[in-house]
Amino acid sequence: MPNYIRYKPDITSALFWFMKEIVLLGSTGSIGTQVLDVARLHNIKIKALSANSNVNLLADQAREYSPSFICIGDEDKYDELKRLIDDRRIKILCGKDGLCELASLACDMVVNAIVGTAGFLPTLTAIEAGNRIALANKESLVVGGEMIIAAARKKKIKIMPIDSEHSAIFQSLAGNEENRINKIILTASGGPFRGYTSEMLKRVTADQALKHPNWCMGPKITIDSATMMNKGLELIEAVWLFNVRADQVEIVVHPQSILHSAVEFDDGSVIGQLGVPDMRIPIQLALTYPKRYASCAKPLSLTDISCLTFEKPDDRVFPCMDIARSALEKGGNMPCIMNRANETAVKMFLDGKIKFFEIPEKIQWAMENVSYSKEISIDIIFETERETDEKMSRIVS
Ligand code: NAD
Ligand code: MG
Repeated sequence: MPNYIRYKPDITSALFWFMKEIVLLGSTGSIGTQVLDVARLHNIKIKALSANSNVNLLADQAREYSPSFICIGDEDKYDELKRLIDDRRIKILCGKDGLCELASLACDMVVNAIVGTAGFLPTLTAIEAGNRIALANKESLVVGGEMIIAAARKKKIKIMPIDSEHSAIFQSLAGNEENRINKIILTASGGPFRGYTSEMLKRVTADQALKHPNWCMGPKITIDSATMMNKGLELIEAVWLFNVRADQVEIVVHPQSILHSAVEFDDGSVIGQLGVPDMRIPIQLALTYPKRYASCAKPLSLTDISCLTFEKPDDRVFPCMDIARSALEKGGNMPCIMNRANETAVKMFLDGKIKFFEIPEKIQWAMENVSYSKEISIDIIFETERETDEKMSRIVS
């Protein structure tokens, strides 16, 4: 039997985790459930769990992990959740305030696995409360990277990336803090439409776009991967996390998703991280860093894969990467407009209201028509999101 299946946490690991407690936001999603897989394997205690609307799964998770707090984002589901939880030791919260209360609880780490802009305020709240944070919610850094990084510096908090590419970059930089980075090589699978022409993209359906070749993820990020906006968001994420310029980030299509990203240093050495495409590897490292423990992921066999290939992305067919570069260059609330417009356009596509190829068009339209502000603050972010939603709904209806 292979090692990874036989693995049970050893006594050192159990002792290491004895007092560890995490707050997990977005526990019912693709990342959230995999965080719980890691927690189950290593006996990590869960202090709090949250979900947006899936009360049944949240209640099941609460029964298994006995957290002290749970929170449901959708306030209309509060009573239903209360009926499902028959345990007075669990405090039940709801809405945005509830989420922020969870993010500021005293704990060893807050894991933010919420999808979309809803994750921004909990990220900032967790950091301002002095909590360490493991971040899957890349949108936080896209809409308010400057504020988040400033808060993390002030509180001397390291943000542990969960995104596989950023985890790979983080690992490649270990031990090289004093060395100059030439560039970051941000790898992309290319998504389900790699090699398509613009003409072919006019006919693709939501079912096709939701079939990612290598990863099983939530619907929003799966569509972002198909449009390549995911790489645009990740470029902005990398710029904030690793303090590099956008022109130092090279996006390279690597269809096998084995090299999760790499860093090129001044001497020409390229250091990268390889592994099977399984999010439980970067999730676990974010939780246990600097320790590494056996994981439930399959080991990598390079000879089984035999061939790793790399190619340039097609920016003409997939304009979202350039859109993200220009939003970042413009700065202020422009990445926030782009991010919100993307979120809304993805939802419209999944609801059958627009075609796949219209997603970048709608984003560009929003970037030209929503009020621009050079300044950024929490109020500006919320106002930008409100205006983007309102204008986007008008052009589609
Ligand atoms: P998902 O849709 O599967 O899960 C999202 C979670 O967020 C759910 O628990 C949901 O209840 C919660 N949520 C949604 N809207 C909310 C709201 N308005 N308020 C509070 N909670 C809300 O998404 P996912 O694929 O797990 O992705 C989560 C984040 O991780 C995203 O930012 C994504 O880009 C990032 N990420 C995901 C993967 C992956 O493999 N899935 C990989 C890298 C990064
Ligand atoms: Mg990624």
